[in-house]
This record gives sequence, structure tokens and C-alpha cells, in this order.
Amino acid sequence: MKSNKAIVKVMTPKSKEQEISPLIHEILVRLGEDPARDGLSRTPERVDKALRFLTSGYQMDPEKILNGALYDVKYDEMVVVKDIEFFSLCEHHMLPFHGKMHVAYLPDKKVIGLSKIPRIVDMFARRLQIQERLTQEVANTLQEAVHPLGVGVICEARHFCMMMRGVEKQHSGAMTSAMLGACRDRKDTRDEFLSLVNHRSNGS
Ligand SMILES: [Zn+2]
Repeated sequence: MKSNKAIVKVMTPKSKEQEISPLIHEILVRLGEDPARDGLSRTPERVDKALRFLTSGYQMDPEKILNGALYDVKYDEMVVVKDIEFFSLCEHHMLPFHGKMHVAYLPDKKVIGLSKIPRIVDMFARRLQIQERLTQEVANTLQEAVHPLGVGVICEARHFCMMMRGVEKQHSGAMTSAMLGACRDRKDTRDEFLSLVNHRSNGS
């Protein structure tokens, strides 16, 4: 299933001082590269743009993302959006980490448009992050926006800073979770979430 992509506003530098490209040029020089050679001549501008895109979540406003997408309903079964693919940058090395998130909530009179949940994930993934905080921010935002009875978020990710350097554990992944309200306090609710998450994962 392809998730709805968030509309991204990439901030362009407003002044010379805000340009990242001269700094990338300098990094290339200090790495012993020749920034003037063919393949690198436009690299500083490309990296500038890429970094702005990858951190564009700072410019996203949860209120705007969720605007008008809350609906009053009499639905009290758990809502689960599984396998939300995300890409983020670890704040320790500014290297990518990526993986999947599974997000669930137990509605209390209100539900949110399903496509909004991947957009909340993108908003926090496109920042300098650690996986633990990313997981919690998604859970807290959903809690504050929808006021459900419970929220559960599970995040599975692989970190390039572990895979490419140092320990070079290519196959190690990290799992984090955030459970709020009934998903934290009620075992039956938490178990339901975990079994819904595991269910399709095994079948795909
Ligand atoms: Zn890292």
C-alpha cells in the first residue's frame, strides 16, 4: 500500500548566510576531494537541497496537517495503520535510519482521516531524530489531536550509522514503542494492538 505523501515545503535560503552549499564545498575540500571536478561541481547545491528536504519536518505544522480531518463517529474499535515507511536522519551522525511504523489508537467519539497518520510520521521523521523520540512524538501528537482512549506506536528501524561504520552490524535493527492510555494500562488492548501488528507482517 502506498501511503499518501505529505506536501512538502522545502525552505530555500533567504540570504547568503543561510546557504549550506558553501559549507559542503568546504567539507569536500577538507575531505581531500576536488570540488571542481565534473561529478562534484554541483554537489554542494544538491546536498543543500537534500538536507533541506530531509529536515523539512521542522516547517510542518501539525494543526495544518490535521486541519478538518477529525470526524465524530460512534466507532470504538481499534484503528491500526501498519507498515508506514519512513526515512529519517539520526541526530548523532546525520546518517539515515529508516524502517516502518505501526500506529494504532482506540477512538473515543472521534477518528482522524487515515491518510493523516503517515503525514504525522513524515513530519517528525524529516528532522534530526533519535528513534525513541520519533516514536514518542508520533504517539503524543495523535493523543493530543484525537484524544483517543489509547495510542500505541511501534517503530522498527535500521540505522546506517550502525551498518556503515563502527560496529558494522548490517542486520541489526532497533525496535521502540510508545503506549499511552488504554494501550499502556489495559493488557487486552495492548495485546490486541500487538496481534494486529504481527498479523499481516507475518503474511507479507
Ligand atoms: Zn547515529
